[in-house]
Formats: sequence, C-alpha cells, structure tokens
Amino acid sequence: MAAALLDRFLNSDSGKYPADFQNIMLLMGGSGSLTPAAEEFVWKAYSFGKQAHQGQLRKSGQPYFTHCVEVATILADMKLDPVTISAALLHDVVEDTGYTFKDVEQEFTKELALLVDGVTKLSDIKFRSEEDKQAINFRKMLLSVADDIRVIIIKFADRLHNMRTLKHLPAVKQRRIARETRDIYAPLAHRLGMYRIKSEMEDLIFKILEPKAAKDLEKLIPKRQVFFEKYVKKFLEPVIERMEQAGIQASYKSRFKSHYSIFRKMRDQNRPFEDVYDIYAVRVVVEKVEECYSVLGLIHSFYTPIQERFKDFIAQPKANGYQSIQTTVVGPDGLPVEVQVRTLDMDQTAEEGVAAHWQYKENGIKSSQDDIDQQVSWLRNLVDILQTEDKTTAHQFMDLLKIDLYKDEIFVYTPKGEVRILPLGATPLDFAFDVHSQVGLHCIGAKVNSRIKPLNSQLESGDKVEIITSDSQKPNSSWLKFVKTSKAKSNIRKWIKGQEFEQSLRLGKEILEKELRKIRKAKEWKSLKNPHLDLKFASEEKMIASLGSGHRTISSILSKFFPDEYISPRQERSESQFAESFLNRARRNTRGVSIHGIDNMMISFGKCCNPIPGDPIIGFITRGRGITVHQKSCETVGSNLTEKERIIDVDWAAARSQKFLVRLKILAQERKHLVRDVTETISAYDINIDTLSMKVDGDVVTGLVIIEIEGVKQLDRLKSKLLASNGVISVERE
Ligand code: MN
Repeated sequence: MAAALLDRFLNSDSGKYPADFQNIMLLMGGSGSLTPAAEEFVWKAYSFGKQAHQGQLRKSGQPYFTHCVEVATILADMKLDPVTISAALLHDVVEDTGYTFKDVEQEFTKELALLVDGVTKLSDIKFRSEEDKQAINFRKMLLSVADDIRVIIIKFADRLHNMRTLKHLPAVKQRRIARETRDIYAPLAHRLGMYRIKSEMEDLIFKILEPKAAKDLEKLIPKRQVFFEKYVKKFLEPVIERMEQAGIQASYKSRFKSHYSIFRKMRDQNRPFEDVYDIYAVRVVVEKVEECYSVLGLIHSFYTPIQERFKDFIAQPKANGYQSIQTTVVGPDGLPVEVQVRTLDMDQTAEEGVAAHWQYKENGIKSSQDDIDQQVSWLRNLVDILQTEDKTTAHQFMDLLKIDLYKDEIFVYTPKGEVRILPLGATPLDFAFDVHSQVGLHCIGAKVNSRIKPLNSQLESGDKVEIITSDSQKPNSSWLKFVKTSKAKSNIRKWIKGQEFEQSLRLGKEILEKELRKIRKAKEWKSLKNPHLDLKFASEEKMIASLGSGHRTISSILSKFFPDEYISPRQERSESQFAESFLNRARRNTRGVSIHGIDNMMISFGKCCNPIPGDPIIGFITRGRGITVHQKSCETVGSNLTEKERIIDVDWAAARSQKFLVRLKILAQERKHLVRDVTETISAYDINIDTLSMKVDGDVVTGLVIIEIEGVKQLDRLKSKLLASNGVISVERE
C-alpha cells in the first residue's frame, strides 16, 4: 500500500521540485555534484516522509514535515551523505506515523532503515531531571552510537532544530529541554568535535537559562564587532601582502566566539565585557599542510607570540580529530590576537567533527572505517566500559561520563615513543590503566622523564612515562581519590568490589563452620544439596558471603535446615531488640573503646580499616561476634548502613594505655642508608617496630613496616617526618 501511495505522489509531482527540497540539493551539491541516483534516492525519502506526516502539525502550527526538512537541511549544510540526509527526512516516520521499520527497509535500504530505527530508539528516551534517569538515558544514547555514529549526528541536528523552535513550548518545558541540552548534548557534541552545532546549541541554551545576561550581551556586542572588524583588517594587512608575494592562496575568517562562551569568560575571569579580550579569533585557511607553518612563521615575524599560548594540534591532533595551529600574538596597540592556521580539510573537521567523515565528496569516496574508528576510539572505549559496568550506580555513571566529557587533554609518551592521550590532571596511575588494566592493578611506581614520581603526581604534556609494576602490588581505595580517567576508576572499583566479596566469603566460612561445630551439624550440612536455593541465593558462595558481610545472621540461615536448634526464646529475639538491650545498660570501657551501654561485649577491630585512637569510629553489632569497631569512613560498614539497628555509637575512651598496630607502606627511591634512616626516624618517636620488610624492585623500594602506635596524632607526625626524608615518595596506612 505504501508503494502505491508513493507512486501516485511521485507521479503527480514529477518534474518540479518544491523549494525546500531544491535548497537541500543545493547545499548538498556544494562540494561536488550529486549523482542522479543519489538525487532520486533523497527525493524518494522526501516524498515518502511528506506523505507519511500528512495532516500532522507542530506546536508552532506548521506542518510537521517542515521539522524533518529543517533537520535534513542542517545536515545538508554539513555536507553529509545522501543516506544520512534521507534518514533525517524520515527520522520521525517510525515514531509518529503508521509506518514500521520493515516498511522503510522494504521501500529503501536496510542501512537507511537502521539509521531511522536508531534515531527512533533515542527518541524513546524521555530525559528527566533526576540523575538516575538521565544516566540510563545517556547510557542508551552512547550504546546506540556504537553501531553507527550517524544516528547521533541526526539526533544532534534534530535537537538543534527543536532548540531553535523552543519558543512555542511552555516556559517550564523550555528550561527543562535547555538544561538537558546543556548537560548532555552540548558536551557530547564538543567531545565529538562538532563545534558548530555545539556553539549554536550553547547560544540557544544561554538565551533560555540566562535571559537577562544574554540580552545585555546582545546589546554590547555590535559596537565591539565594528571595532574588531577594523582592527583585524589592520592586523592582517601586512600578513596578506607577504602571503601574496609568496604565492600562498588563503582565505581569512575572523569571528566572535559564541555569546555563551563570552559570558562564561566574563563570569570565570570576573571581568566586565570591555575587559575581556580573547573573545574572537582570526582564522587563516590554506591549501597545504606545509603552508600552515609558513603562515605561522610569517605571523610571528610581524607580531610577538605569547609563548605559552602556542599549540600545534597539526602534529598532535586532539582525540576527536581536531587539527589546527593556534597561536596568540601581540597585535597592533598591544592587544592579544588569537590566530588559527589550518587547511580546508582540517577546517571542516574542526567545524563538523566526526560528521566530517561522512561528508559527500565529489568522487563519492568517504573516509575509511579505520579513520572513523580512530576518531571515535574514545567513544568506543567509553561504550566498552559501560557494557561491562552494568551494575554501576547512576551517580557513579554520571561521574565516569563527566570525566570523559569535560576534561581537556594532555599528550604523554610511552618509553617506545607512542603517544597516549589522557585528560588534563591525569596521573601515572591513569597512564598505567590506559596501557592495560593489569599494568594499572600492579603499578607500584612510575618514572616520569626518567625520574621516579609518586603515583598521584600530575602528568604534563610531553612527559615520557615508564610504569614500574610488581606482582605483589594491589590497588587500594585511596587510589580512587586521585585517578582521573573513567577506565582507571572503574577498574579499581571492580577490583575492590571483588576483594570485599572474598573477605566476606572467608569470614562467612569461619562463622558457618564455628556454628556448625557448636550445634554438631557439620556432617548433615555437607549432605545438603544446594542449600542456597532454599534461601533464594544465586549461589552457595553468595549465601556464605552474606554471613561475612553481616547481611544475614547465621541463625536465619541454619534455622531453615535445623529448626530444632533455634527455638529458644532468647534466640528468637529480633535484631533490634538485641541492639536495644545494650543501650539500656551503663557505659563502660572495653579495650580502649567506650560503648554506650554495652556490657560483656566482645570488641574487635575491623581488619578492613584497622582503626586507631583518634580515627572517627563506629561500632557494628554482629551477632555471635560481638562488636566490630570500624573507621567511620570504612567501606565495609558503608555497604551495610541500611541496617541501621546494627550500627552503634562508640568512642575512644579518654584513658587508655593500649597500643595499636598499624601497617605502613613506604615507597621510596632506592638509596644508601634508606633502611637505617627509616628505622631511626621511627625510633626517634619512641615507637616500637613490630615488623619491617623492604623490597627493592629496580629503582623503587617498597617497605612494609608494622609499628605500635598510640593514636592518630602520633601517626600523623611520624608520617610527615618520614615523607620529609630524602627519596621517600609516599607513606600510606594500609
Ligand atoms: Mn524530530
């Protein structure tokens, strides 16, 4: 039926194209002529879409199909290929009309149908303000991109047109959509290098979210614009003359940065509009790469460059493919002028980002898949992480994402001279995880430009980084505080999670065995088949681990199988009664810890965090094992915080003489007398050393020392003294 309708439509309108379609053709033909077959294909999509949306209206009162034409026009202006343009014309067909994926596939091609389907799936996403919804949606969006990035390019154009026509919606909705565009679409467009789309989006967002500032700025800009146009002319005059003499063909553009970025500069630098200078840039576009450097030399011969503002993104492209030379020089009258020099190809990539790879070229040849893969490798990496991290919480997910979206980049080198791109502020540990997760997990130190640096030091562009690993090294949660990449974060977190499970499992086994011995049921227990199924656990290990983590009590599990052993009234008391009975008694001291109203309780200290006097602490009631004291910040307790009645306030007793064992890990550069100096420093505080071991691994020494300490203050003093000694890189409590 669809075909019949379409035929009728095509015949009735043959020979003459409507103006909006002609405009699309004109824009597409800009970089070469469209083949008749390609033109036919797009026209078919146009006709099909128009007919499918017949009778539907936009909020503005215009026919719905005008929206699809506008979206296609934005993409045609970016010179995208005929399939993408056709998909844009049909992008709402499956969602808003009676046609299905199959219809589109039959009528057109599978490639096109898949694009439309991708955009439709993205539209199902209804963003909410709550973070978790946003996270789920964002994840969906990124995963869909893994298949064909053109889906997201169409979605960006769709969003851009919706932003342009936002005024037809109620104010509350306008703000919601603007915020969503600010938080998700604009950063992603930025990361994909689609600067033109990103700038327009940001200016539209700015108008809606900061209406007053936007209006004020709009009044101020025209005057400055006139001034700068004259100024740029004066600036370029001598340069152009010399370029013509040298026979270099070039075009020049000068333009103001987006209103929103000017506003941001005013706000961040806390300056009035008149005092903000870097709000416009001069661009010189040449034909050949070598000419970029000639032009640069020319400009520097006329105007003094500001050294630290020079960047060569031609030799070292950004991860999103951006290439250009950027320099800031002192122009006439001492004003700073930012100049960008690049070739036409680079200019297109700089404006359109990844979309440039699907541009329709005269000979119909597109970029190779390799090229595209390289450009979006960042995105694919992130998608990989998302796929393996299905249990990440919404908050953690947004965290991971923000790291990768908003950070600037640095370039560092492997010992073999390969370049690695990392976010600004990345540490040797980030580098290690970037090389391989196993390298990261066993990383004990790094040589940066041949010198040993701490794991948490910040790398800089140009650094040569060599990672030192050791099989005995294990990650710890303090690493999470300084790593910058999502890859490092998610790997460390995964490792810690696995580790916690192991711990719980070990502990759970002990509890179970002890109790089974007590009630003399060890044999019977062994003969049970899959006991975990009766208690609805996924595995026996998980059931046993739940004992160790304190999520389940031993009686709640064993009473299921040996009910006779668990019927005495005393044991039938609920957990909360159990905790309450302690609170009614008098306060007393036990092994240096005072517990509000607890009598005859066994006190033990969490092996996971080894609290010592001075640490903020908390008690955790474990039936059968008394009270375990943990640091307040301890993650083991954190994961049990839902069980409020099992948490109890504890304090370090005022008077106590007990000493506590603390294990310190010292990382140092190998040198003479290191061991002697460390032991002397410790002894000087009258602290007993229980154990000391030092391991040399190349240039790095890992020292493990167990000492008897009075409390946190003494430990802090010792730590800073140790850190001050020659060659010591880090001192951490374990
Ligand atoms: Mn749409």
